[in-house]
Amino acid sequence: MARLTQADLADLNQTFEERTPQELLQWSKEIFGDRVAAISAMQEAGTVVCHMISQAQVDIPVIFVDTGVMFQETLETRDRLASEYGIRMITLHPELTMEQQTEKHGILYLTPEGQKECCHMRKVEPLRKVAGQYDALIGSLRRSEGGRRATCPILMVDVEMNAIRVNPLAMVDDETLDEYVAEHKVIQNPLHAQGFSTIGCNRCTTPVLPNEPKRAGRWRHLGPWSVYCGINPQDRDQANSPAIDLPQELIDRILGRMTDLVI
Ligand code: SF4
Repeated sequence: MARLTQADLADLNQTFEERTPQELLQWSKEIFGDRVAAISAMQEAGTVVCHMISQAQVDIPVIFVDTGVMFQETLETRDRLASEYGIRMITLHPELTMEQQTEKHGILYLTPEGQKECCHMRKVEPLRKVAGQYDALIGSLRRSEGGRRATCPILMVDVEMNAIRVNPLAMVDDETLDEYVAEHKVIQNPLHAQGFSTIGCNRCTTPVLPNEPKRAGRWRHLGPWSVYCGINPQDRDQANSPAIDLPQELIDRILGRMTDLVI
């Protein structure tokens, strides 16, 4: 194994600013083969990634973390993407049902500290179960979402998953995303049309008013303290020089280096 740091990815990230999302998906499949998956919460950008995967016929599975308290519309969106786009969906679940968790720990999501614990148990831990199975995870973060995501790189090392996060839509703005959805009639989570600009668990997500920030509907009951669940490394506090361990040969392929010949 060899170390790959975020700094090692700087030049590649620079070059990738010129690539299209579809080219980045193709690159991900070529480099990582069966050790790449996408992750989607069945929101607008995630469904666009699913559509692009289907169009490119790259056979990349899509991971969905079902916290057990998702909206029915979100589950139906997942099922439609699987049946109509032929997406290979992998659904992950938390260890405890929400009822078991409440019995054991009380209603956690009502306080800022409890929310972190609840998101950890219901979102982060289920994803961690597949750590080691994938060297790359394709997400759908975009810089135009603002907040922590405003500086989201295309490639980012994820220390917790020991994998590279690939954000092929990082440079796609809201208008371009909406145009893609309209042009290709991409399957959408119906909740967007009901005023939900972003969508998470039914316990912690509400619609937003037109003059509110997009993420105002997430954890509204907690005030301004809780904005992210921590499933994306971009939303977490990471070390200054985060690094992951991957086979040297894979790092060479990622960085486009010539591999030494052994005679
Ligand atoms: S969004 Fe709310 S209900 Fe869902 S895992 Fe986080 S705290 Fe728990």
